[in-house]
Amino acid sequence: MKKKRKINNLTPPSKAMECSKCGRVVENVGYDAKSVVCSYCVFSAVGFPEETKPAYKPTGRPAGWHWMKEFVDKDGNVYHSGKEQPKLKGTLKPTKVKPPKKKVKRRTQNQILIDRHKKKKAALKKAVKKQQDFINHNVKK
Ligand SMILES: [Zn+2]
Repeated sequence: MKKKRKINNLTPPSKAMECSKCGRVVENVGYDAKSVVCSYCVFSAVGFPEETKPAYKPTGRPAGWHWMKEFVDKDGNVYHSGKEQPKLKGTLKPTKVKPPKKKVKRRTQNQILIDRHKKKKAALKKAVKKQQDFINHNVKK
């Protein structure tokens, strides 16, 4: 009689930890890890993948502001070609941001992306479930 091998013995030790930034529980963290950052925070730091990328305008700066010869944000920070000029801070009036020609609400655009992502995910889930049902059905027969 063969003994069943315990899977627990084969997997490296891991634990669940809370993300040091947002508190989300992250599973499968190595036991020697002292802190962990969840994938959401990693994404928000390095940029979301194309599908989940939020509409880019969190700072209120116009698109391409860092290409502008001189740009002053609403807090008075001065940028020359995207480089901050701390000495000039507060000496210039904020650059007036022209509204984009297309009147698209940022939130709406973002929502479209999120919805598209959700739809894709749902479709995938459905497909997987269909396949599972199919397999289960066959097994039961
Ligand atoms: Zn996090």
